[in-house]
Amino acid sequence: MSAILPLVRPDLRDFAGYKSARSESLRGDVWLNANESAWSNPADGEGRSRRYPDPQPPALRARLAELYGVAPAALLVGRGSDEAIDLLVRALCVAGQDAIVVTPPVFGMYAVCARLQGAPLVEVPLVDGVDGFSADLEAIREAALSQRAKLVFLCSPSNPAGSAIPLAGIAALAGALEGKAVVVVDEAYGEFADGPSATTLLAAHPNIAVLRTLSKAHALAAARIGVVIGNEDLITILQRCQAPYPVPTPCADLALAGLSDAGLAQTRERIALVRRERDRLLDALAQSPGVLRVYPSQGNYLLVRFDDAEGAFRALLAAGVVVRDQRAAPQLGDALRITVGSPHQNDRVIAALNAREQAA
Ligand SMILES: *Cc1c(COP(=O)(O)O)cnc(C)c1O
Repeated sequence: MSAILPLVRPDLRDFAGYKSARSESLRGDVWLNANESAWSNPADGEGRSRRYPDPQPPALRARLAELYGVAPAALLVGRGSDEAIDLLVRALCVAGQDAIVVTPPVFGMYAVCARLQGAPLVEVPLVDGVDGFSADLEAIREAALSQRAKLVFLCSPSNPAGSAIPLAGIAALAGALEGKAVVVVDEAYGEFADGPSATTLLAAHPNIAVLRTLSKAHALAAARIGVVIGNEDLITILQRCQAPYPVPTPCADLALAGLSDAGLAQTRERIALVRRERDRLLDALAQSPGVLRVYPSQGNYLLVRFDDAEGAFRALLAAGVVVRDQRAAPQLGDALRITVGSPHQNDRVIAALNAREQAA
């Protein structure tokens, strides 16, 4: 039997989903089966958007699979990794019964999707240590087992904390939860990190799923293209729960252009620049007198504690710089998250904070 099927909601195990016009394997040269227009809209240049798209545009799926080093059937393309998070929670968690584990302070969508599905939320806080925040994998294992979790969301590199989780720890957690829960590794910022992807663990661990996105390093947030990578049975189930045509043709075309060899070469250059600027910004912030702590980061952002976070936030705003206020997040009552921008933008951040110190 499949390694994953027992983890799927019992009422969805034989769910076939919506049978769209595109998903049937019919042949012909006059397509009159989907109530589409016989004529293109003049606004639609080459007429590529006249017909419903393939639910999983094959060229895009193949290119993404190549990019992430997995088989096309191990990957589902969706509307950002946000949709993948929602699909995982809906497909695996029986409302009021099957919990999800999260590690605050962390990206908010896991809790939002749990709430929408009525899945209990189990929080295992990150631990703030000398090297930065880290996930308490032992406590996560205990909580997942004792609270009947079906999903564990690990964010690596962590948004907003910036730290990555060692793969050996993720593998051990997945081993301990095999047959009981899926360990989801959200690698939205994986391109900015030093280490390898958790996709390298998939062969040995059928209960790991990895989230990747074109929204951050690939600079295509508005195209809304993200993927979940995992066991092929899990991918099949998630696709059946997904909307019929989740990948708009203009978005697929844009993503494919962005993933061309030339596009990827430029993305690699931007990533290298962001990593250099991340180091520079970290050094400059660490020397800014109002800064209590700058956390090392494997992402394209820095988490910073201030003696007066409110004042720093206002000083940045007054200089026209908008950063993310983290003060409502657990353990982050004095912290802001600053995205690494262009060299000029980072200079403005540094100047605004240093000017504030001179004024004080
Ligand atoms: C930005 C972000 C996402 C959302 O990615 P989309 O693909 O744009 O939906 C997912 N996870 C984390 C941790 C993020 O920070």
